[in-house]
Amino acid sequence: METNRRTFLKSTAGLLALSGWTAAARDTFFSLPMGDINYLQQPLPFAYATLEPVIDAMTMEIHYTKHAAGYTKNLQDACLAEKVDKANTSLTALLARISNYSEKMRNNAGGHYNHELFWQTLRAPQDAASNKPSGVLAAAIDKKFGSFTAFKEQFSEVAKSRFGSGWAWLLVGQEGLLQLGSTPNQDNPLMDTSSLKGFPLLGLDVWEHAYYLRYQNRRVDYISSWWQLVNWPVVEQRYLQTIR
Ligand code: MN
Repeated sequence: METNRRTFLKSTAGLLALSGWTAAARDTFFSLPMGDINYLQQPLPFAYATLEPVIDAMTMEIHYTKHAAGYTKNLQDACLAEKVDKANTSLTALLARISNYSEKMRNNAGGHYNHELFWQTLRAPQDAASNKPSGVLAAAIDKKFGSFTAFKEQFSEVAKSRFGSGWAWLLVGQEGLLQLGSTPNQDNPLMDTSSLKGFPLLGLDVWEHAYYLRYQNRRVDYISSWWQLVNWPVVEQRYLQTIR
């Protein structure tokens, strides 16, 4: 772990200075353990049917084995073509200087990272009223947004309003505070090219491929049902990493 961390620091030192991050954000970034999301597609942490009826098994299977697997494969191809030293460059560090790479790298590094995170933050449907964060994250959400209900409304609005394909995010922004926002396509807040910058805690895929079979054009219904699936303990762990 220590060796990894030193290698990580060495390989990314100086690069973040180019990415427009504040000193506080850099400190946060450097304190994160590397390897939470790497270059490989991990096994799905649940069965395809686990998210039924909110997300149907066929959508889940196509999403994981076709869409997400495609991003991962194309990321490998881009890394080979653009000579990325994956052993010494964390995926997070690659994203932080994505402006140095091709459009293919940007789309697929983002697509891979975003989906790996997305699966981690999902679980079998919970009782809608009681599925909420606890502890310091719950307190931070109340402080920032007024209440969990108000937070959900604002996040849902952001997700609904993202024109076309993209992601809605709860993130820790550069000032170390919780923030909401969205990114187009497969961009994410770790990218130096993104106007929304920070450490993503929770992302919602609002590409039609994520919901079309069950919800067709009804993105709003998909969003409101998705709250039952949020794996808050995972989101809380990510938040804790940023405030150590
Ligand atoms: Mn997707």
